Amino acid sequence: MEQELRVRFAPSPTGPFHIGGARSALFNWLLARKEGGKLILRIEDTDLERSTRESEENIKAALRWLGIEWDEGIDAGGENGPYRQSERLDLYRQYTDKLLISGQAYYCYCSEEELDAERQEQMNKGETPRYTGRCRNLSEAEREQFAAEGRKPTVRFCVPENQQIIFKDMVRDTVSFESNGVGDFVIVKSDGIPVYNYAVVLDDALMKVTHVIRAEEHLSNTPRQILIYQALGLALPQFGHISLILGKDRTKMSKRHGATSVEQYKKLGYLPEGIVNFLALLGWAPAGEEEIFSREELIEQFSMDRVAKNPAVFDVDKLNHINAHY
Ligand code: GLU
Repeated sequence: MEQELRVRFAPSPTGPFHIGGARSALFNWLLARKEGGKLILRIEDTDLERSTRESEENIKAALRWLGIEWDEGIDAGGENGPYRQSERLDLYRQYTDKLLISGQAYYCYCSEEELDAERQEQMNKGETPRYTGRCRNLSEAEREQFAAEGRKPTVRFCVPENQQIIFKDMVRDTVSFESNGVGDFVIVKSDGIPVYNYAVVLDDALMKVTHVIRAEEHLSNTPRQILIYQALGLALPQFGHISLILGKDRTKMSKRHGATSVEQYKKLGYLPEGIVNFLALLGWAPAGEEEIFSREELIEQFSMDRVAKNPAVFDVDKLNHINAHY
Protein backbone atom coordinates (compact mmCIF):
# COMPACT_ATOMS: atom_id res chain seq x y z
CA MET A 1 0.00 0.00 0.00
CA GLU A 2 1.26 3.44 -0.81
CA GLN A 3 2.25 5.59 2.15
CA GLU A 4 -0.38 8.15 3.14
CA LEU A 5 0.66 11.73 2.40
CA ARG A 6 1.02 13.70 5.62
CA VAL A 7 1.74 17.41 5.61
CA ARG A 8 1.77 19.96 8.36
CA PHE A 9 1.38 23.63 8.97
CA ALA A 10 3.56 24.69 11.88
CA PRO A 11 3.16 28.36 12.73
CA SER A 12 4.96 30.20 15.51
CA PRO A 13 2.27 32.09 17.42
CA THR A 14 4.25 35.27 17.84
CA GLY A 15 2.14 37.95 16.18
CA PRO A 16 -0.47 38.69 13.55
CA PHE A 17 -1.10 35.88 11.07
CA HIS A 18 0.78 36.96 7.95
CA ILE A 19 -0.67 36.19 4.53
CA GLY A 20 2.61 34.35 3.76
CA GLY A 21 1.74 31.91 6.53
CA ALA A 22 -1.78 31.57 5.16
CA ARG A 23 -0.35 30.76 1.74
CA SER A 24 1.89 28.02 3.22
CA ALA A 25 -1.11 26.59 5.05
CA LEU A 26 -3.16 26.73 1.87
CA PHE A 27 -0.58 24.91 -0.29
CA ASN A 28 -0.30 22.17 2.35
CA TRP A 29 -4.06 21.91 2.58
CA LEU A 30 -4.52 21.77 -1.20
CA LEU A 31 -1.95 19.00 -1.48
CA ALA A 32 -3.51 17.04 1.38
CA ARG A 33 -6.99 17.33 -0.12
CA LYS A 34 -5.80 16.51 -3.61
CA GLU A 35 -3.90 13.40 -2.50
CA GLY A 36 -6.38 12.23 0.12
CA GLY A 37 -3.76 12.87 2.79
CA LYS A 38 -3.76 14.50 6.21
CA LEU A 39 -2.96 18.04 7.30
CA ILE A 40 -1.57 18.46 10.81
CA LEU A 41 -1.64 21.74 12.71
CA ARG A 42 1.28 22.06 15.09
CA ILE A 43 2.03 25.11 17.17
CA GLU A 44 5.74 25.96 17.37
CA ASP A 45 5.84 27.94 20.57
CA THR A 46 9.38 27.28 21.80
CA ASP A 47 10.05 31.00 21.82
CA LEU A 48 8.34 31.28 25.18
CA GLU A 49 8.71 35.03 25.44
CA ARG A 50 7.16 35.90 22.11
CA SER A 51 4.55 33.14 21.83
CA THR A 52 1.03 33.91 23.01
CA ARG A 53 -2.21 31.97 23.22
CA GLU A 54 -3.92 34.99 21.70
CA SER A 55 -1.83 34.67 18.57
CA GLU A 56 -2.51 30.92 18.43
CA GLU A 57 -6.24 31.62 18.65
CA ASN A 58 -5.96 34.22 15.86
CA ILE A 59 -4.18 31.75 13.61
CA LYS A 60 -6.81 29.06 14.18
CA ALA A 61 -9.64 31.53 13.67
CA ALA A 62 -8.07 32.78 10.43
CA LEU A 63 -7.56 29.25 9.12
CA ARG A 64 -11.18 28.39 9.89
CA TRP A 65 -12.38 31.59 8.26
CA LEU A 66 -10.41 30.70 5.14
CA GLY A 67 -11.88 27.19 5.19
CA ILE A 68 -8.48 25.56 5.68
CA GLU A 69 -9.52 22.80 8.03
CA TRP A 70 -6.94 20.43 9.49
CA ASP A 71 -7.27 16.74 10.25
CA GLU A 72 -4.92 16.29 13.17
CA GLY A 73 -3.24 18.49 15.73
CA ILE A 74 -4.31 21.34 17.95
CA ASP A 75 -8.07 21.13 18.59
CA ALA A 76 -8.32 18.10 16.31
CA GLY A 77 -6.45 15.50 18.36
CA GLY A 78 -4.54 12.55 16.98
CA GLU A 79 -2.21 9.93 18.32
CA ASN A 80 1.01 11.79 17.59
CA GLY A 81 0.50 14.68 19.99
CA PRO A 82 0.77 16.78 22.03
CA TYR A 83 0.79 19.25 19.15
CA ARG A 84 2.10 22.29 20.98
CA GLN A 85 5.90 22.19 21.18
CA SER A 86 6.00 23.64 24.69
CA GLU A 87 4.19 20.46 25.80
CA ARG A 88 6.67 18.12 24.14
CA LEU A 89 9.82 18.94 26.09
CA ASP A 90 10.09 15.46 27.65
CA LEU A 91 10.01 13.86 24.24
CA TYR A 92 12.77 16.11 22.93
CA ARG A 93 14.88 15.36 26.00
CA GLN A 94 14.90 11.64 25.21
CA TYR A 95 16.42 12.32 21.81
CA THR A 96 18.93 14.78 23.23
CA ASP A 97 20.10 12.09 25.64
CA LYS A 98 20.57 9.70 22.72
CA LEU A 99 22.66 12.23 20.85
CA LEU A 100 24.75 13.03 23.93
CA ILE A 101 25.39 9.36 24.66
CA SER A 102 26.39 8.57 21.09
CA GLY A 103 28.70 11.60 21.01
CA GLN A 104 26.73 13.28 18.22
CA ALA A 105 26.02 16.20 20.54
CA TYR A 106 27.86 17.72 23.47
CA TYR A 107 27.47 20.21 26.27
CA CYS A 108 28.89 23.63 25.51
CA TYR A 109 29.74 25.92 28.40
CA CYS A 110 30.88 28.94 26.38
CA SER A 111 29.27 32.16 27.55
CA GLU A 112 27.65 34.66 25.18
CA GLU A 113 30.57 37.04 25.80
CA GLU A 114 33.13 34.40 24.87
CA LEU A 115 31.20 33.45 21.75
CA ASP A 116 30.86 37.11 20.73
CA ALA A 117 34.58 37.68 21.20
CA GLU A 118 35.36 34.58 19.13
CA ARG A 119 33.01 35.68 16.35
CA GLN A 120 34.52 39.15 16.34
CA GLU A 121 38.02 37.73 16.08
CA GLN A 122 37.05 35.53 13.14
CA MET A 123 35.41 38.44 11.37
CA ASN A 124 38.47 40.62 11.93
CA LYS A 125 40.47 37.95 10.14
CA GLY A 126 37.99 38.06 7.27
CA GLU A 127 36.63 34.60 8.11
CA THR A 128 32.98 33.61 8.20
CA PRO A 129 32.13 33.28 11.89
CA ARG A 130 31.44 29.75 13.05
CA TYR A 131 31.77 27.97 16.33
CA THR A 132 35.25 26.46 16.73
CA GLY A 133 34.08 23.31 18.47
CA ARG A 134 36.01 24.31 21.57
CA CYS A 135 33.77 22.35 23.95
CA ARG A 136 33.65 19.21 21.80
CA ASN A 137 36.27 17.34 23.74
CA LEU A 138 36.01 18.62 27.28
CA SER A 139 37.05 16.21 29.98
CA GLU A 140 34.69 15.24 32.75
CA ALA A 141 36.78 17.35 35.15
CA GLU A 142 36.54 20.42 32.90
CA ARG A 143 32.79 20.00 32.65
CA GLU A 144 32.49 19.73 36.40
CA GLN A 145 34.63 22.80 36.82
CA PHE A 146 32.37 24.84 34.51
CA ALA A 147 29.27 23.55 36.25
CA ALA A 148 30.78 24.48 39.62
CA GLU A 149 31.29 28.02 38.28
CA GLY A 150 27.52 28.08 37.77
CA ARG A 151 27.66 27.94 33.97
CA LYS A 152 24.55 26.44 32.42
CA PRO A 153 25.43 24.54 29.25
CA THR A 154 23.74 24.55 25.89
CA VAL A 155 23.71 21.35 23.84
CA ARG A 156 25.48 21.56 20.49
CA PHE A 157 25.14 19.25 17.57
CA CYS A 158 28.40 17.80 16.22
CA VAL A 159 28.45 18.64 12.53
CA PRO A 160 30.33 15.99 10.54
CA GLU A 161 33.18 17.33 8.43
CA ASN A 162 33.50 17.28 4.67
CA GLN A 163 30.01 16.11 4.00
CA GLN A 164 27.92 17.23 1.09
CA ILE A 165 24.26 17.55 1.91
CA ILE A 166 22.20 17.11 -1.22
CA PHE A 167 18.45 16.96 -1.47
CA LYS A 168 15.84 17.26 -4.13
CA ASP A 169 13.44 20.05 -3.34
CA MET A 170 9.97 19.84 -4.85
CA VAL A 171 10.22 23.46 -5.95
CA ARG A 172 13.92 24.25 -6.24
CA ASP A 173 15.16 20.91 -7.59
CA THR A 174 18.60 19.77 -6.47
CA VAL A 175 19.97 21.78 -3.58
CA SER A 176 23.38 21.15 -2.09
CA PHE A 177 25.34 22.46 0.87
CA GLU A 178 28.75 21.69 2.35
CA SER A 179 28.74 20.62 5.98
CA ASN A 180 31.99 22.49 6.52
CA GLY A 181 30.11 25.76 6.15
CA VAL A 182 27.99 24.87 9.18
CA GLY A 183 29.66 25.08 12.59
CA ASP A 184 28.48 22.90 15.47
CA PHE A 185 25.16 24.53 16.28
CA VAL A 186 23.08 24.78 19.42
CA ILE A 187 20.09 22.42 19.53
CA VAL A 188 19.04 22.98 23.14
CA LYS A 189 19.42 26.33 24.86
CA SER A 190 20.81 26.66 28.38
CA ASP A 191 17.26 26.83 29.77
CA GLY A 192 16.53 23.38 28.34
CA ILE A 193 14.33 24.63 25.50
CA PRO A 194 15.12 23.17 22.07
CA VAL A 195 15.71 25.49 19.14
CA TYR A 196 13.50 25.48 16.05
CA ASN A 197 15.87 23.44 13.83
CA TYR A 198 15.93 20.62 16.33
CA ALA A 199 12.32 20.48 17.52
CA VAL A 200 11.04 20.70 13.95
CA VAL A 201 12.97 17.58 12.92
CA LEU A 202 11.83 15.51 15.88
CA ASP A 203 8.23 16.59 15.42
CA ASP A 204 8.12 16.06 11.68
CA ALA A 205 9.61 12.59 12.16
CA LEU A 206 7.41 11.63 15.12
CA MET A 207 4.29 12.95 13.40
CA LYS A 208 5.25 10.93 10.29
CA VAL A 209 5.21 13.95 8.04
CA THR A 210 5.99 12.91 4.47
CA HIS A 211 6.17 16.34 2.79
CA VAL A 212 7.47 19.52 4.38
CA ILE A 213 6.17 22.50 2.45
CA ARG A 214 7.18 25.84 3.84
CA ALA A 215 8.54 29.26 2.98
CA GLU A 216 11.87 29.75 1.24
CA GLU A 217 13.29 31.55 4.24
CA HIS A 218 13.76 28.10 5.79
CA LEU A 219 15.79 26.70 2.91
CA SER A 220 19.06 27.57 4.63
CA ASN A 221 17.88 25.73 7.77
CA THR A 222 17.23 22.52 5.86
CA PRO A 223 20.86 21.23 5.76
CA ARG A 224 21.07 21.49 9.55
CA GLN A 225 17.80 19.64 9.83
CA ILE A 226 18.95 16.92 7.43
CA LEU A 227 22.09 16.38 9.52
CA ILE A 228 19.90 15.81 12.57
CA TYR A 229 17.65 13.36 10.68
CA GLN A 230 20.77 11.46 9.62
CA ALA A 231 22.32 11.43 13.09
CA LEU A 232 19.16 9.91 14.53
CA GLY A 233 18.59 7.54 11.64
CA LEU A 234 15.19 9.11 10.88
CA ALA A 235 13.57 8.91 7.45
CA LEU A 236 13.77 12.19 5.52
CA PRO A 237 10.57 13.80 4.29
CA GLN A 238 10.41 15.49 0.92
CA PHE A 239 11.01 19.21 1.13
CA GLY A 240 9.37 21.95 -0.89
CA HIS A 241 10.35 25.58 -0.30
CA ILE A 242 7.92 28.08 -1.72
CA SER A 243 9.21 31.41 -2.88
CA LEU A 244 9.00 34.68 -1.01
CA ILE A 245 6.09 37.04 -1.43
CA LEU A 246 7.26 40.44 -2.65
CA GLY A 247 5.48 43.76 -2.78
CA LYS A 248 4.95 45.47 -6.13
CA ASP A 249 8.31 47.22 -5.74
CA ARG A 250 9.93 43.77 -5.59
CA THR A 251 11.07 44.04 -1.99
CA LYS A 252 9.93 41.56 0.63
CA MET A 253 6.26 42.11 1.42
CA SER A 254 5.97 44.03 4.66
CA LYS A 255 3.72 46.51 6.45
CA ARG A 256 5.04 49.26 4.15
CA HIS A 257 3.09 47.63 1.35
CA GLY A 258 -0.23 47.81 3.21
CA ALA A 259 -2.23 45.13 4.97
CA THR A 260 -0.19 41.98 5.59
CA SER A 261 -2.32 39.94 7.98
CA VAL A 262 -5.33 37.78 7.22
CA GLU A 263 -7.25 39.58 9.93
CA GLN A 264 -6.70 42.94 8.27
CA TYR A 265 -8.05 41.64 4.96
CA LYS A 266 -11.04 40.21 6.75
CA LYS A 267 -11.69 43.56 8.42
CA LEU A 268 -11.35 45.32 5.08
CA GLY A 269 -14.28 43.23 3.86
CA TYR A 270 -12.52 40.74 1.59
CA LEU A 271 -14.19 37.37 1.26
CA PRO A 272 -12.44 34.16 2.26
CA GLU A 273 -13.09 32.66 -1.19
CA GLY A 274 -11.40 35.68 -2.81
CA ILE A 275 -8.39 35.51 -0.51
CA VAL A 276 -7.98 31.75 -0.99
CA ASN A 277 -8.24 32.07 -4.77
CA PHE A 278 -5.72 34.91 -4.79
CA LEU A 279 -3.25 33.23 -2.42
CA ALA A 280 -3.32 30.04 -4.48
CA LEU A 281 -2.07 32.04 -7.45
CA LEU A 282 0.83 33.49 -5.43
CA GLY A 283 3.45 31.05 -6.56
CA TRP A 284 1.30 28.36 -8.14
CA ALA A 285 0.51 28.69 -11.84
CA PRO A 286 -2.57 26.92 -13.18
CA ALA A 287 -2.26 25.23 -16.56
CA GLY A 288 -4.53 27.65 -18.48
CA GLU A 289 -5.35 31.36 -18.50
CA GLU A 290 -8.23 31.11 -16.01
CA GLU A 291 -7.84 33.08 -12.77
CA ILE A 292 -11.07 32.38 -10.95
CA PHE A 293 -11.18 29.04 -9.15
CA SER A 294 -13.56 27.56 -6.65
CA ARG A 295 -12.06 25.62 -3.77
CA GLU A 296 -12.92 22.34 -5.50
CA GLU A 297 -11.26 23.45 -8.72
CA LEU A 298 -8.14 24.47 -6.84
CA ILE A 299 -7.95 21.07 -5.16
CA GLU A 300 -8.42 19.32 -8.46
CA GLN A 301 -5.82 21.35 -10.32
CA PHE A 302 -3.19 21.98 -7.66
CA SER A 303 0.17 20.33 -8.08
CA MET A 304 3.61 21.07 -6.64
CA ASP A 305 5.05 20.77 -10.18
CA ARG A 306 3.46 24.07 -11.05
CA VAL A 307 4.77 25.94 -8.01
CA ALA A 308 7.30 28.47 -9.27
CA LYS A 309 10.82 29.05 -8.03
CA ASN A 310 10.78 32.77 -8.62
CA PRO A 311 9.25 35.17 -6.11
CA ALA A 312 5.53 35.85 -6.17
CA VAL A 313 4.42 39.47 -6.36
CA PHE A 314 1.49 40.56 -4.23
CA ASP A 315 -0.66 42.70 -6.49
CA VAL A 316 -3.57 44.22 -4.64
CA ASP A 317 -5.32 45.14 -7.92
CA LYS A 318 -5.37 41.48 -8.81
CA LEU A 319 -6.72 40.62 -5.37
CA ASN A 320 -9.50 43.18 -5.84
CA HIS A 321 -10.26 41.84 -9.30
CA ILE A 322 -10.51 38.27 -8.00
CA ASN A 323 -12.42 39.25 -4.86
CA ALA A 324 -15.01 41.05 -6.99
CA HIS A 325 -16.03 37.69 -8.51
CA TYR A 326 -17.31 36.40 -5.19
N1 GLU B 1 7.50 27.73 13.02
C1 GLU B 1 8.15 27.95 11.76
C2 GLU B 1 7.66 29.26 11.19
O1 GLU B 1 6.59 29.72 11.56
C3 GLU B 1 7.80 26.82 10.85
C4 GLU B 1 8.79 26.55 9.82
C5 GLU B 1 8.55 25.21 9.17
O2 GLU B 1 7.48 25.06 8.58
O3 GLU B 1 9.41 24.35 9.29
O4 GLU B 1 8.34 29.86 10.39
